[in-house]
Amino acid sequence: MSDRKPFIAGNWKMNNTIAESEELIQALLPLVGAVEDVDIVVAPPFLALQAIVDSARGSAVGVYAQNMAEKDAGACTGEVSGPMLAEIDVHGVILGHSERRQLFGETDRLLQLKVPKALEFGLIPILCVGETEEERERGDTERKLRHQVQEGLEKVPLERLHEVVVAYEPIWAIGTGLTATPEQAQDAVAFVRALVQGFDKEAGNRVRVLYGGSMKAENAADLLAQPDIDGGLIGGASLDAESFAAIVEAAR
Ligand code: PGA
Repeated sequence: MSDRKPFIAGNWKMNNTIAESEELIQALLPLVGAVEDVDIVVAPPFLALQAIVDSARGSAVGVYAQNMAEKDAGACTGEVSGPMLAEIDVHGVILGHSERRQLFGETDRLLQLKVPKALEFGLIPILCVGETEEERERGDTERKLRHQVQEGLEKVPLERLHEVVVAYEPIWAIGTGLTATPEQAQDAVAFVRALVQGFDKEAGNRVRVLYGGSMKAENAADLLAQPDIDGGLIGGASLDAESFAAIVEAAR
């Protein structure tokens, strides 16, 4: 049994207007707002962040952004920076989600700048990594993870490395209803942890590594029972307060 605190994060993606976000958080807070033994996070779309920060204030639910620019300010049309998120008391940020990588061309090089930049502004980064179906079939899973983890974390000051959260999300399991088996997820998550240990043994022992990809109330307990899986990054099932609360319960 590890002494790492379980971490359950809901990625709302491009779902929910401000009003819908408000409805969801109001349904969620009575279910999980007082839970102290799990770090609970929701990541609403940018426009709803301020409202959800205000609604969740004083509760156990932390509020994260879904992306952040690598620069503090400047000529980056359409982007949102770390200082802007910190100003409204956002607690952290999802970085390098596979949808950002695939749809918006985010690279490991870019993430190498974003991850330490988040820490600089007091935001906890969740660095997402994971292989495609084709890469898994070719036997390239570890090579892909090694590249993503080593590049993504390379510029993080060693004394802050334990603060980062890493989410292993096999792309073939995201939004597909296909979940990695607990054994597949454990193997990949343990590999990710070993890569972090390669930077710093102690940080690797302390860092939280999550699984993501069609996690839901029905499969959460088996995944979370694995020794290296410290939590989940949940898309679809986080849009329903009761399903998300059931996953939080499975992590306790
Ligand atoms: P999913 O999404 O739970 O809907 O598969 C996970 C994610 O994209 O983080």
